[in-house]
Parts: sequence; structure tokens; C-alpha cells
Amino acid sequence: MTNRIPLIAGNWKMNLDHLQAIALIQKLSWTLDDADHDFGEVEVAVFPPFTDLRSAQTLIDAEKFKIKLGAQDLSQHESGAYTGEISGQMLSKLNVEYVLVGHSERRTHHAEDDSVVQQKVAAAWANNLIPIICVGETLEELETQGQSAVPIIQTVNALSNHETLGEFVIAYEPVWAIGTGKVATALEASEVATAIREALKSNFGEVAANSRILYGGSVKANNVAGFLQSDQVDGVLVGGASLAAEEFSGISRFKKHIVL
Ligand code: PEP
Repeated sequence: MTNRIPLIAGNWKMNLDHLQAIALIQKLSWTLDDADHDFGEVEVAVFPPFTDLRSAQTLIDAEKFKIKLGAQDLSQHESGAYTGEISGQMLSKLNVEYVLVGHSERRTHHAEDDSVVQQKVAAAWANNLIPIICVGETLEELETQGQSAVPIIQTVNALSNHETLGEFVIAYEPVWAIGTGKVATALEASEVATAIREALKSNFGEVAANSRILYGGSVKANNVAGFLQSDQVDGVLVGGASLAAEEFSGISRFKKHIVL
């Protein structure tokens, strides 16, 4: 048994303007309320594009929705001449609680390496944000190094050289499973989560027991329950399937599919 509260996180990527964001958050919240979703038992968070965050925050505040707000990235810098960047302080002011760090699309298209990811984790903590640190192997790395090696190295590098560790979440997302329709098996996700937790324990001690480890990569309402059968997998990070209220609410209510 674990006291880690499952987290269902929806990464919208570069989809939906602020009006569409309002409509989706309203629909999602109403759908979950209709189904008597217990947000204390399973946390639900959405990660809209930056330009949607202010509208999302205003709506969530005004309606007292229990859905949490996350951002897809943040700058490693505090402020200054960094055209186009968004700081942790700006996100914090919008009641953003979570921030994705080191998503594979950032690593691939924006050349973010482990050192940048480590600095972004520090920037998140400096602004009271909880980083969701994304780790995962490419298909080539899977074939040459196996499944756990790269996620473990990326996790340890992101968390090293900080004076103290703040709260964090790890999202294990095999790169070959993101947006491809290919999924890791539930057993593979569980084994990698276990290996990451062991690495957390041997490198950083007790935080291992309290830190949530998510699986991500082509998660849908019809496959989520398998991943969450494992007591090592504490939730999911969802891309494409988080853009439809019914589907994402089905994922958030994964417990109804689990036969205990
Ligand atoms: C993601 O973007 O983090 C992701 C897991 O995407 P998808 O669910 O579409 O594979």
C-alpha cells in the first residue's frame, strides 16, 4: 500500500486557444462532477499553452473547480533578456502548481539537455512549483541500452547538485510511445518505475517513497487501468487523449476499470 495520491496530468501541447481552453476545462469539470469524482483521491491537472493560463486560472478560481493547473515549460532564468521565455515567478502568480520539465519534445526540438533540465528543476522549486520531470528512452536507446538505463540517468541528473530537494514528480515516457499509438506494456511501465524508485532511494534516500512516478505514452481510457494496477505507477501523463473531455475524464476515473 502507498499513500501517494495518483495524479492524472493532461499535456495539451500546442493545441487549443484560450476560448477553447475555457470550454474544455468547463466540460471536463462538469463531467467529473457528474461522475462524483473524488479529487482528493485522484488529482487531475491540465497543462494548457502559456497563452491560455490566465483564462484557465480565472475560470478555475471563479467556479471553484478542483482541477489543478500546470504549465508545459518554464525558463531556467529568473528574469531579463530572454526573449520569448516565461519565468517560474510568472507561472506562480497564475496559481500554476505543476510544470513539465524536460519533455522529450523539448529535449528533441529545443536541444534541452540534462543540465538545462536540472536548472529548470531548480527554477521551479525557487518559485514553489512542482516539477514533473519527464524521462524516457528513444527506440535506439531501448535497443542498445535496455529500458531503464536512460530514464535512470536522466532522473539522477535532474535531481543532482541541488542544495536540498523540493517536491517533484517523475514521468516515465518512452519516447517511442509518445503520440505514436505504441504503448509500453503495463509490466514494462511497472518495472521501469520500480527501477527509477530504486535509483531515487540509493541516490537521494527517503524521498523515493513519497515521490510519484507516472507513466506516459499513448495512454487512453481503454488502457489506463493496466498501468495503474501496479503500486509503483502513481498516475499518468496524457497527451492527445487529454484534448477530449469524455476521454480524459474516463482516464481520470481509471479506478472503475480496476478489478481488485
Ligand atoms: C505526452 O505528450 O506527454 C504524451 C504522453 O503524449 P501522448 O499521450 O499523445 O502519447
